[in-house]
Amino acid sequence: MTTDPRLFTDAALTSGATVPLTREDAHYLLNVLRRGEGDRVRVFNGRDGEWSAQISHASKKAAALTVEAQTRQQRGVPDLWLLFAPVKRQKTDLIVEKATELGVAAICPVTTARTQSDRIKYERFQTIAKEAAEQTERLDLPEIRGIDRLDRVLDAWPQDRALVFCDESGDEPDAAWGGARGRGQPMAAALAGLAEKPAAILIGPEGGFSPAERDRLRSLDVVIPVTLGPRILRAETAAIAALTVWQSVCGDWR
Ligand code: SAH
Repeated sequence: MTTDPRLFTDAALTSGATVPLTREDAHYLLNVLRRGEGDRVRVFNGRDGEWSAQISHASKKAAALTVEAQTRQQRGVPDLWLLFAPVKRQKTDLIVEKATELGVAAICPVTTARTQSDRIKYERFQTIAKEAAEQTERLDLPEIRGIDRLDRVLDAWPQDRALVFCDESGDEPDAAWGGARGRGQPMAAALAGLAEKPAAILIGPEGGFSPAERDRLRSLDVVIPVTLGPRILRAETAAIAALTVWQSVCGDWR
């Protein structure tokens, strides 16, 4: 593997194509990484695989690449979405970055009864996901959805997609895993048989899910309630842990 810098571009990639860089990418390449004309980079666009390229033009504020040859075939990530309720800014940023690294196909912020923030910085999420994808050798970017209310997302839920509900509560604290209607099954066990099937993971806000949300989620056939163990995790930890288990049991870590 080469250590040439990797950049995402919207442009089509074919041999000989010229790719103008955005101002941010030109700044990163020329001023931060101190590369110049003739230096090599790698580019990907989510469609055409990865290509080697050369910096063919560099001025103070602009740069362009000339695409050379394909170095990797296009390849996607497993069909996994992450639904999460935005928390504080730094932690939300962390969730977007780590979800991209861990290989989710779509990032879907949702508002719930106890969500702390119902606004997201959509462009900021896109920048974080782009940088994480560049760094992590992904060949695509996760799709970032606009924020929507959890109940509306559930109303329109595609019936062929399992919704893995990370449920922190238990109705019967003395019973193992909270009892029959209490804690969900341990996540790895609950996922057996779901490999390569479309899925989504749902993580709640710091305040957890309301009883009404929990009842509705538990009543839906597509929902698989799971526990991530006896300790209550912070939302960002829960997201990283759940994605790790899913990738190990159902995804491309197998
Ligand atoms: N305030 C809540 C905790 C919320 S933690 C409480 O004290 O009960 C934020 C989110 O992380 C939860 O909504 C859940 O989706 C997930 N989470 C945290 N710990 C979990 C666990 N042990 N099992 C399953 N999900 C968990």
